[in-house]
This record gives sequence, structure tokens and C-alpha cells, in this order.
Amino acid sequence: MANPVLPSSGVLSPLGLDAVRLNPGFWGDRAALNREVTIAHCQEWEEREGWIGNFRGERPRRGREFSDSETYKLLEAMAWADHPALPALAETMAQAQEGDGYLNTRWSGSRYTDFEWGHELYCYGHLIQAGVARLRMHGEDRLTQVAIKAADHVCRRFMEGTRTCGHPVIEMALVELYRVTGTERYLEMARRFVERRGLPALADIPFGRAYFQDDMPVRQAQVFRGHVVRALYLASGVVDVAVETGDQELLKAVEAQWERTVARRTHLTGGMGSRHIDESYGDDYELPPDRAYNETCASIASIMLAHRLLLATGDARYADLAERTLYNMLATGVALDGRSFFYANPLQVRVPAVPLEGVNHAAEGGLRSPWFDVSCCPHNIARTLASLPAYLATSSADGIQIHHPTPSEIRHGGLAVRVETGYPWAGSVTVRVLEGGEGRIGLRVPAWATDATLAHVPASSPESPLPEGPVIRPVDPGYAYVDGPWQAGDEIRLELPMAPRWTLPDRRIDALRGSAAVERGPLVYCAESVGDEPRLGDLTARVLPPEEREADGVVELEVAASLRSGDGDGWPYAPADGRADESAEPTDVTLRLVPYHRWGNRGPATMRVWLPIQEK
Ligand SMILES: [Zn+2]
Repeated sequence: MANPVLPSSGVLSPLGLDAVRLNPGFWGDRAALNREVTIAHCQEWEEREGWIGNFRGERPRRGREFSDSETYKLLEAMAWADHPALPALAETMAQAQEGDGYLNTRWSGSRYTDFEWGHELYCYGHLIQAGVARLRMHGEDRLTQVAIKAADHVCRRFMEGTRTCGHPVIEMALVELYRVTGTERYLEMARRFVERRGLPALADIPFGRAYFQDDMPVRQAQVFRGHVVRALYLASGVVDVAVETGDQELLKAVEAQWERTVARRTHLTGGMGSRHIDESYGDDYELPPDRAYNETCASIASIMLAHRLLLATGDARYADLAERTLYNMLATGVALDGRSFFYANPLQVRVPAVPLEGVNHAAEGGLRSPWFDVSCCPHNIARTLASLPAYLATSSADGIQIHHPTPSEIRHGGLAVRVETGYPWAGSVTVRVLEGGEGRIGLRVPAWATDATLAHVPASSPESPLPEGPVIRPVDPGYAYVDGPWQAGDEIRLELPMAPRWTLPDRRIDALRGSAAVERGPLVYCAESVGDEPRLGDLTARVLPPEEREADGVVELEVAASLRSGDGDGWPYAPADGRADESAEPTDVTLRLVPYHRWGNRGPATMRVWLPIQEK
């Protein structure tokens, strides 16, 4: 079973890369681009920047203290993609590993002297995840030997004691290694790392211990807080530990934290993180569009967590958030050419970025960059797109469930189906049975699809001629099921309503008051202003039904707006019973909206998701 996450129990079991094959389409095209372009791009840049050379002993050592982890994420991507460059790269790791399993190009010689910032266990976590991917896709080889040797070293060194790492990820990596090998000490080591956190296990730092979730035991926390990637990697590992040890209290704690975080600390795009200084969540409802941080890695971590919670509980809400995050964050993180990336993903950019050829030394930027000093995001995208089929469908005792419809073929227990759809541009999803079998087929109906219908169209044959016509029935958000048995040619047709819709923010999100956004299907839209197009700061949108316009297979939208182009140099405040000086007369304009995930592909631009609207 070729999956990044394979729990031994849970309401749903994931179908892996061996069961789900992507066909050309929204995700199939991106996965192919990832395999053909992005993985090689990452390897070239890692060589250029010396991060792979660090493992060959080239000096001076280059890159940040955690750069080893990027090579491991690249190896994981290669493992899922069955990439031919993997064996040679893995051999380089094997040569660098010390006799007792220790492996780190930064801290060799001064091991474990900085738990807060050293990232040694974090790096092992990514190495172990790469090893697990290789074990599941290929079987034992040099990479899996290196990973297991490192995991054994970690267990020997840390099973007793009070320490853990300033950056989680080792927890979920060790649980997955337990799942694939059956070796119980890996699970026990992960459990201890989880339980140690917050006792505390780390020294205080200027950001405060909440930064690395060491401010309180995980069971006591009410909400995700601190550095977002750390928080979500930890929560993913906590779910894994809870599932494997049968710890319902621990699982419920994460479910409650997730619920509150989604209700109060999540941007419309599914992005998380409002503070740049420490890449952290802000307080409840602190969701500024222009200062949103929304690291690409944080969105991937959110998808990883939502997937685990979906498997454990079967609750469609987790798949709903995963969908929002897949289409509006993961798809945004990489350019259409597969060679440049966003690190931060704000919902408003006021000034067009200046194009940059080489390394982006900051995480900010209104243009995608080919590389960053900290290139966690490109590698995270690479490994996620390489393993994406494993996130799309699941099975249970009574059949299969399709959570994210995209052109693909799915096989399970003798049943084979082909999913045909133009989603997310079109709302029709056809599931055609290729090989008959037993079991019910479930299709997720997203929370926004309040007017969806489902039709079951049995195959026609001489023995069972087609009935009067397919029975079309309305289906509610959640899961819609059709029972088998199935024969080749049977079809299920799901119709999701795709009319664009205006979305208003909760009034407690003070930064968004007086504005609205447009969504269509799973996609968030934004106004993008390239060159001389309207200044986005000067417009007021009218909440009228947007017009649809298709261009090159992409659905764009047009909304009516008024524009005040005057310089407005009067005092911009006024008494409560008066009006601020807006001397210029507004002019009517048509505002073009593009899917948020496509913005920034036409050169430097300003952009905004939340549009000011006329207050009633
Ligand atoms: Zn990142």
C-alpha cells in the first residue's frame, strides 16, 4: 500500500498510489509537471547551493542549519515518483552517516547542543519519511537502511530523558516507520516525544515557548498556536500516536483544537498564519489580508492533518478544508511552469513586486521565486504533488469514498472506476464503472454545494434494458452514496452547482469589515491588476451576480465596481454623522477576477481577494 499515511485503524482507510492513478486534468497535469520539472529543479538548485555537497563533506558547509531536511524531502518526492536519481543521492546520504546512525551535516562534532534551534530531530523526521516512502514504493534499499539506522539511533539516544526538538515532525515520521516495519519502539519513542512537550521540554526563547508548542502539554491546549508549520506537524503526529495507541482523549483534544482554529484562525484560502515575525497564528480573528503570512508549508501541513482526521473520523468537514487548501494554497504555491514558488501567500498585495532572478533571501514577495534561502516550500510541494493520489480516495468495509474528484482511475477490491470531470471549472463528475464489483460508492458533496444532484445510470444490456431514465435525486453536503453491486458501464453522475457566490466575513474579523470575496466551486477568486489596469485600492465592488468568462479552459469572472480615481488628498476621516472627503466622482468599471491560485503568473501585479463593498 503506497501511502504517506497508513493508520492501522480508523473509520476510513486511504487508497494509495497503487490504487489511484491520475489522468490528465487539474491535478494530473500538476503531478506530471512536478515529476518532470519541479523535482529536477529542486535537485539542480540544491547542488548549486551546496546543500547536497554538504553530505559529500564539501567545506565550508553551506545553507541553513536545517538544509539537510530539504534533501530528505527531495528524496521523499523522488521515492513517490519512482525517480531514477534517487539511488545515487541516497548513496551520498549513506556515505555521510556516522557509525552509530547519527547523520547531520551541520552538527556533526557538536551533537545535540541546541534543541531549540538545531533541528537535528526535525531533519531525521524528514529522512525517515523519505525512507517510509521508499519502503512502500520499492522495498528495502540504501535509503531505507539509512533511515532505519537513524531512527534506531534516535530511540537509543532519546527513549529516556526529557528532551525533544524545537521543530516537530519526528513524531509522525516515527509512527509511520512503526506502521511500515511493525517495530514498536518507534511508536513508543513518538509517544514519549508527544507527551514530553509542554512539561516543558525546551528552554524558553524570545518568541516564547508557544512558538514551538512547549508552553503546555498538548492535551491541555484549546487551539493551535505559535509557529504554524510546527503546530500542524505536531498535531499530525499527535493524531498518529492517538490512533495507534487507541488514545481517544488525545484524538478528541486535537479535534477540538482543529475546530477552534478553523473557526477563528484560518483565512478564506485555507491558509494559516497571520504574523510574519515568528510565522505564527495570530489571536482569534486576527486575519489581515495584506499581512497574511500563510506559508505554503503550513497549508501542506494543514492538508496532512486534515487527511489524518478524515481517516480517523470519516467527517466530511476535514475533506472540505483539505479541498479548500488544495485548490487555493497548494495549487497557488507553484507557478504554471513548475519552476518558481510562493513562500508567503497574502490575500492582498498592494505594490507590484520587482522581479528577481536568483535566490529570494526573504519569504515575502508578490512574485514566485525559483529558490529561497529557506527552501522548505518548494520541496514540500514536490513531495506532496508526488504523493497526491493517496489523498483523494479511501475505502471502508462497505465500499469506496471519493473525496476529491479529479480525472483518475481508482481500483479497490475488484471494483475499478474511472472519474471523469472538468472540476474545478465544471461541476459535473461522472464515475464510470470499468470492472464490476461489490460495495457502495460514496462521493463527497462539498459544504458549499447546497443544491447538488446525483444520478445513478445503470449500464444498458440485453438482459437489463435501460429504465425510463436515470433517477436524479438531490443530495446534501456530506457524502452521497450509491449501493452496488456494480457492472461495467454503470455510471454515477454528480452535479455540483457552480454559480459564483459572494462570501462575507465574520464581523469579528476586523481587518475584513466592509468587504466581500467571490468564490466559485472550490476556488477563491481575486482581482489582479497588471500594468495600467484599475488601482485596486480605489474601487468599490457591487454585490451583483458575477459574469463568467472562459479563457483557455480557465473560468474568469467579471464584477461591476465603481472606481474613485481622484487622489483624495483631503483628511480621510469624518464625524460620525458626516462623510469623509471623497471629492472625485466614481466611474463605473468592470473588474476582472481570476482564480487566486493563478494570480502572479502574468508578471508583477497588485492583487486582492477581499473587495471593498458599499456598506448598507
Ligand atoms: Zn515552507
